[in-house]
Amino acid sequence: MDLNLAGRRALVCGGSRGLGYACALDLAREGAEITLLARSADTLDAAADRIGGDTGHRPVTCVADLATPHGIEAALDACPAPDILVTNAGGPPSRGYEALTRDDWDNAFATTFLSAEALIRAIVPGMAARGWGRVVAITSVAVRQPVLDLDLSTAPRLALTGYIAGVARKVAAQGVTLNCVLPGPILTERVAELGPVADMLIAQVPMGRAGTPEEFAAACTFLCGQRSGFITGQSLLVDGGLCRTTF
Ligand code: NAD
Repeated sequence: MDLNLAGRRALVCGGSRGLGYACALDLAREGAEITLLARSADTLDAAADRIGGDTGHRPVTCVADLATPHGIEAALDACPAPDILVTNAGGPPSRGYEALTRDDWDNAFATTFLSAEALIRAIVPGMAARGWGRVVAITSVAVRQPVLDLDLSTAPRLALTGYIAGVARKVAAQGVTLNCVLPGPILTERVAELGPVADMLIAQVPMGRAGTPEEFAAACTFLCGQRSGFITGQSLLVDGGLCRTTF
């Protein structure tokens, strides 16, 4: 299936490992020109080397903390006019609601909501002016089904989902789509760090296993391609059936 991604410029956030990395690799294999963004230069360079070795096209790298205005500026300097934007950053810690502080909430909203909002605000108008663009936000199954003690993840992601649903309609007539992809348990370093919370989720997956980063990336890449052009403002679960919902 040709997704017409050859030569498309893609900014992939949180790309040094896990889901972001898998999405960047899959897009690069389809011929997209990747700008890979994460916080730590060492792991980012190693990730870019691996993608370069696999595809023959090493991504441009950008070291930036998207939770800060300076990090957003660095991202836009590195890739000012992408055709594709994949928003993503690290997930917050798992903690009971009683223990959460104002700082925890500020950090969670800065990392998960304000970072994506700032990039969308800066990038989507250019996509609309050029008549083509794709935004995919990596959110979470927690948007559709609460996960115990992951409130710091759920609330900012729900805000982002609502925001994307609105902007998607605003630019729908200009060839730009915005969608969310919702991972259930997917085997990344993050899942290993979550420990018992992740084990509990994996045990509930009807497929009886966690997903692979490659399976997740396939959904992201499809939404970034030409063939998904009539899909916008949606939230696609990639969770092996974990969410017991009909719609
Ligand atoms: P991960 O921790 O393995 O990777 C996160 C990536 O984002 C890394 O490259 C890291 O360097 C980068 N990053 C973190 N904070 C950043 C920041 N402030 N600025 C720039 N880059 C930053 O996580 P993952 O498993 O790949 O998950 C990605 C996202 O999806 C997370 O938000 C996670 O909570 C969410 N999620 C993951 C799963 C899963 O099963 N893997 C399930 C639900 C939700």
